[in-house]
Amino acid sequence: MLPVSNLPAGTLSYPLDCEHGSSGSRRNSLPSELTASGPRAGACGANYVNVKPRVTFYWLNFHLPYACRHSGLCCTAGWPIPVEHARVTAIEAGIARDVIPLQVVPWLVTGSNLPDDVAGTLALRDNAHCVFFEAGRPGCAIHGVKPASCAHFPFVCLFDQRGVHVTLSHYCPTSTALLFEHTGPIAIVEGPSPLPDVTMLEGLDASEALPPTVAADKPRLMSWDELSAWERDRVLNAKIDELQGDDGALFDRARAAVPAPLSWPEAPDHLESIWFAMIAPAWPHFDDVLSRYAAAKAFASWSLYLGEGVDAAAETARIAAAVLRIECARQCRVFGRPLDRELLSNAIEQSDLLLVHYADPETLARPEAGPNNTA
Ligand code: SF4
Repeated sequence: MLPVSNLPAGTLSYPLDCEHGSSGSRRNSLPSELTASGPRAGACGANYVNVKPRVTFYWLNFHLPYACRHSGLCCTAGWPIPVEHARVTAIEAGIARDVIPLQVVPWLVTGSNLPDDVAGTLALRDNAHCVFFEAGRPGCAIHGVKPASCAHFPFVCLFDQRGVHVTLSHYCPTSTALLFEHTGPIAIVEGPSPLPDVTMLEGLDASEALPPTVAADKPRLMSWDELSAWERDRVLNAKIDELQGDDGALFDRARAAVPAPLSWPEAPDHLESIWFAMIAPAWPHFDDVLSRYAAAKAFASWSLYLGEGVDAAAETARIAAAVLRIECARQCRVFGRPLDRELLSNAIEQSDLLLVHYADPETLARPEAGPNNTA
């Protein structure tokens, strides 16, 4: 796998308090004094949203079996993880009982100007691994009392009047593995809350928004049934075509949505020749996987509400397809071999690192909203 640290310099200096993006209630953000480096664990622009009683949760069927396999990628990414006061007490109690071994002291990085419920961030070791990762045992040493941000990764939720739509960040290797493991048709299904024991979930709160318009140039609002039918059609017919003429421009739209001072590397040179020599022959073999990734980009799209409705959601899905094709080319160039399952997995993970964790979702949905706009 291409480690994040192999990306060009500058791509990791991600401010946790990304202030671009969604409207809504309290932001899950920290002041910059606490944000040394690293991308956000949660989706950029996410808030914590109260889960109403008896709300319906919608999933893509291939995401439904998700369960953490302790890959550790999210624990070694160098992300600054906020720790709630309530968790501090539980973690301290574990350390005091000698249940939680420590290799870095202090384990909590504190500072001033914190949100009321945040005590600080988890300390990182010199290699940017979380202090509690493999601290004496495989995986997370504080699994039962880990901070809310850890528990929410890789879930990405959209709240609207129909319910809660749950998709996953494929930066998580387990999420990506599910794209390969599913068999059978794609479907939108009802399922449980991703975190049944919590009452506040991270996501975009559009629960009081009107449905989107039929199209940007047609002012009539959709009915909720029409929106669900549109979404179902997009999901069932999702696919990712071969290299397109405007892929470079679409990829640059995603790069332009990354808030300064962050950046994402340019598309590799000789894109067309890499594509036809190293990717095109293998592309049809991954048809099913690509369709599932495309479905995940069409489902629960925040662009429905952050941009001009279904047109914005369709355009964001096109951007995602272009990003994936170009990240595949980067993988093939870096590793010097044709596309295979490992390289496609890497490319999917990197694509969602850019699309979910780096890019401001409002700028993705509405390029004119972003300060870095070059589109
Ligand atoms: S607290 Fe646990 S889950 Fe969270 S980053 Fe550290 S090791 Fe990973």
